[in-house]
Amino acid sequence: MSKKINKTDIVALVDDLLSDAITCGASDVHFEPTNEGLTIKFRLDGTLKTIEILPSIVKDNVIARLKVLGGLLTYRNDLPQEGRIKGHETSHTQGKVTDKRLAVFPTIHGQRAVVRIFYENAGLTELKQLGFSDYIFSAVSEISDQNQGVLLLTGPAGSGKSTTLAALLRNILRNHPGKSIIALEDPVERNIHGVTQIEISAHSEMTFPIALRSLLRQDPQVLMVGEIRDAETASIAIEAGLTGHLLMSTMHSGTPAGAILRLLEMGIEPYQVTSSVSAVMNQRLVRKLCPKCKKEDKASGIFEAVGCDNCFNTGFNGRVLICEMVQLDGQLRKAILEKADMETLQNILNNRGHMNLAQDARRLITEGITTPNEVQAVIGDF
Ligand SMILES: [Zn+2]
Repeated sequence: MSKKINKTDIVALVDDLLSDAITCGASDVHFEPTNEGLTIKFRLDGTLKTIEILPSIVKDNVIARLKVLGGLLTYRNDLPQEGRIKGHETSHTQGKVTDKRLAVFPTIHGQRAVVRIFYENAGLTELKQLGFSDYIFSAVSEISDQNQGVLLLTGPAGSGKSTTLAALLRNILRNHPGKSIIALEDPVERNIHGVTQIEISAHSEMTFPIALRSLLRQDPQVLMVGEIRDAETASIAIEAGLTGHLLMSTMHSGTPAGAILRLLEMGIEPYQVTSSVSAVMNQRLVRKLCPKCKKEDKASGIFEAVGCDNCFNTGFNGRVLICEMVQLDGQLRKAILEKADMETLQNILNNRGHMNLAQDARRLITEGITTPNEVQAVIGDF
């Protein structure tokens, strides 16, 4: 960029950056001020990638342009501000852009801005496309056909749990048209046609337990509860699963055994856990190798990330799940009833040849879908 900057250049520059971000399906665009200039990063498939570093001379103008687009106060540089950006409706495979939210924050190097981009079809993946192994796919399909029981999903934030839940709900709708399905979420992340969706917000009087208890009188057949965070919600959810409802929810836990113990810690009786919980799934997301540039190491047969125009030089394109699933069998039920500890539960799983996250990940490495480094970045040494 030349030393002389004019307004049209800046307008075009910001437009181009946002359009590029949408074309490649970025979920966020970061404008990060540093000593050298303004670093532009795109979040692609969950990972931040530096796209370019703009010279310091345009730093303020670029942020000012964003603030104009977002309807913010351009003369206030000392306050965090938030707004929405209209326009730039470039289409993407994830569908058209439904919203773009701008957040600006003052730092010692100048103002930092992030534009978060929302796509119409993001997270509306079909169950078949999530990347489950054949075994887990058929087991989870079978559970979602049932008329009662509790299916729990675990994994840290950003591990695709709500995408899996949405795919399960859509699968149920397709296989059982007319089933009464109610979803309680905080917040509702995506609209699912055919599902009654209810938003729980942190500060409202309608909490998860209050809403859930009352909804059970609305004759639902399938219930989705965004997250089980407290003992009261856990207790109503388990009760629902025992009384003719299929209930699906998520819990914060690193392992399936951890989720089961967590329910017990929340005061759920062991016999309630063993008679209601159908399965616990623990999942993570790993990036998929870009099919256009991935390279096979002839000696090992393992594929490596390279980078090309198709994948913005990241070597990756899209994400896929790795998953482990625990269904309760006689031995596990007995151990839970005897209030076994984590180690005992884990030993039972290991002894019965349980396929854990690392083993599921190896399947994807062997198939050339992801790399050992990517898996290690997500689940640690394996
Ligand atoms: Zn590529």
